[in-house]
Amino acid sequence: MRDEFSTNSKFIIEDEAHAEWCGVFSTFAETMSELESRSRVAWDAQPNVCPCTNGKTCGREYAIVEFDISTEPWKERSRAPILAISSNGVEWNVTK
Ligand SMILES: [Zn+2]
Repeated sequence: MRDEFSTNSKFIIEDEAHAEWCGVFSTFAETMSELESRSRVAWDAQPNVCPCTNGKTCGREYAIVEFDISTEPWKERSRAPILAISSNGVEWNVTK
């Protein structure tokens, strides 16, 4: 049986606070491991530095967005907020 679900999917890390795409991945596991490595980086160090000018009061709100890439443009399948990083600290929102 063809594994249509995984071959037609891409996973995007989107910073929902700034509507910025931070990476495109082929599997959910790869996407999570990128977020895990970002969670070990300080909020004021790259790649967690906010692109806006009020970085001290703002933060990153990373979500994983799954896209169906068999259509053009890609169609969003699901979206889940996963990780927030700011000067207040690191907060995981993983719901399973
Ligand atoms: Zn910001």
